[in-house]
Amino acid sequence: MHFITLATRNAHKTREFTQILGPGVVVRDLSGMTDVPEVEETGSTFAENAVLKAAAASRLIPGWVVSDDSGLSVAALKGEPGVRSARYAGEHATDRENIAKLLLNLQGNGDRKAAFHCAIALAKEGRVVEVFHGAVAGSILLEPRGELGFGYDPVFVPDGYAQTFAELGDTVKNAISHRASAIAQLREYLSER
Ligand code: IMP
Repeated sequence: MHFITLATRNAHKTREFTQILGPGVVVRDLSGMTDVPEVEETGSTFAENAVLKAAAASRLIPGWVVSDDSGLSVAALKGEPGVRSARYAGEHATDRENIAKLLLNLQGNGDRKAAFHCAIALAKEGRVVEVFHGAVAGSILLEPRGELGFGYDPVFVPDGYAQTFAELGDTVKNAISHRASAIAQLREYLSER
């Protein structure tokens, strides 16, 4: 049995990690830990941000500490929104506003290729010991479709599928997503320890 602390206060993220890591790993997060401050995501890559957050939390919390950073990278927009995915249309932008900005910036563009990326950093005693990367390739629709999921899910169709992540739902997403892939690598790493 392994115990990890996920450096997040996002219950959705904690649930996703708990589901994908399975019964061999007990996941707790920072909810209720008021003495662990929020870390600003100042890195220019997903890995840098994951490392920043895991290292900072791990200086205060014993045992395995895990942090992730993720986002959407669009080829025709030179990798944007990238690390700014959550705040693409502004600091407190809604998913709907971010999607609207993305579709506007891609208007008339025939190249709709995109990928979700996820970097997970694993730290112990203040030091990052490993970084795992997951990605899923796909394309951006002209209009949102579907109600499930979050973020850019309604406009992202993974390669090999006809539906968006917001139509496919958790079962498919947890099998093929960028986060699922990175979490599976984390599970593998922990299972060898
Ligand atoms: P963070 O990893 O919490 O910093 O999330 C970054 C942002 O990337 C989210 O707010 C979403 O806008 C976007 N994002 C990351 N993963 C997904 C996903 O699985 N589906 C849709 N949007 C995502």
